[in-house]
Amino acid sequence: MRPSLFSQTPSDLTSTLENLGEPSYRGTQILEWLWQKRVDSIDSMSNLPASLRAHLEEAFTLQTLTHAKTQGSADTTRKFLFRLHDGRFVECVLIPASPALYGERSDRHTLCVSSQVGCAFACKFCASGLDGFTRNLTPEEIAGQVLLSEELSGKKINNIVFMGMGEPLANLSHLLKSIELITSPWGIGIGARHLTISTSGLVPQIRKLADHPQQIRLAISLHGATDEVRERIMPINNKWPLSDLFDALRYWMEKKKQKITLEYILIEGVNDELKQAELLVKRARSIRAKVNLIPYNTVEGLSWNRPDDAHCRKFRDILSGNGVSATLRLEKGHDIDAACGQLRLKEEQLNTPE
Ligand code: SF4
Repeated sequence: MRPSLFSQTPSDLTSTLENLGEPSYRGTQILEWLWQKRVDSIDSMSNLPASLRAHLEEAFTLQTLTHAKTQGSADTTRKFLFRLHDGRFVECVLIPASPALYGERSDRHTLCVSSQVGCAFACKFCASGLDGFTRNLTPEEIAGQVLLSEELSGKKINNIVFMGMGEPLANLSHLLKSIELITSPWGIGIGARHLTISTSGLVPQIRKLADHPQQIRLAISLHGATDEVRERIMPINNKWPLSDLFDALRYWMEKKKQKITLEYILIEGVNDELKQAELLVKRARSIRAKVNLIPYNTVEGLSWNRPDDAHCRKFRDILSGNGVSATLRLEKGHDIDAACGQLRLKEEQLNTPE
């Protein structure tokens, strides 16, 4: 299969053009057609000579993903399902700014993108892990979710969270290249500080990412303040227990000097004991992290429940009362807010590729 032209960085294009005997400024023109003018055919790149367009047509494709389905309406959260060239599906979620947090006139639009088809990490609350791992997304399939979501919504995306399907740090080299496509001025041009990578806790990769020069943000799917509780929810904890994870997070703090977010899904009778809140205070304070509490949303096929609102508030108050910055979102998720991976699972069950 021909590679996508969207996978090409300026240095990749320089060598392609050199081989074709073309001047290097053609690379700048090609990138502008792709990322700024967003053409849908190589033939539309009208300032390139016909012979170069013909070479590019032979060597590359432009297609990365196509739109399959949208759930949700224009003024709320929307979930997009995208079809890949091999018939697989990924989904991403476009979330407008909450007026309560950012004001009525905010034009902040966050996109939650996927990094893999399926996931091998099998966190017990997550639909993406239910069907196992299929494959890594390529860098242009990751960045392509941003382009296609902007095209479908007519909105400029200015904030990205890698929290969709897949474990981004298990696809690190493609993730880093996608970040180059997303953050470069010749690419989508979103500042690295507006990118957050959420991980289940791959310790060696957290250290590698800490050494990466860009100021990307980090969120950890924690969901338990002791190994015993976390292991019930996150099988990865058997491989990298909390002591290893927090060593890596301290390393991140030393290198990046920037707050980490600890994500904590509250699940009734599993990790919502108030004793866990007290221990979470210690964990969060040890790395000066903030905590994002998310009451559990039911996932088809899983039997866990959401604690009642009063209990969630008590849990949060223990954190806030002990100097930990903690947020709690109590409104119930719409169907489409439910765990990532559900829409794709349904579609793949109906439409399994040959
Ligand atoms: S939460 Fe993330 S790492 Fe865990 S199974 Fe779901 S997609 Fe994979």
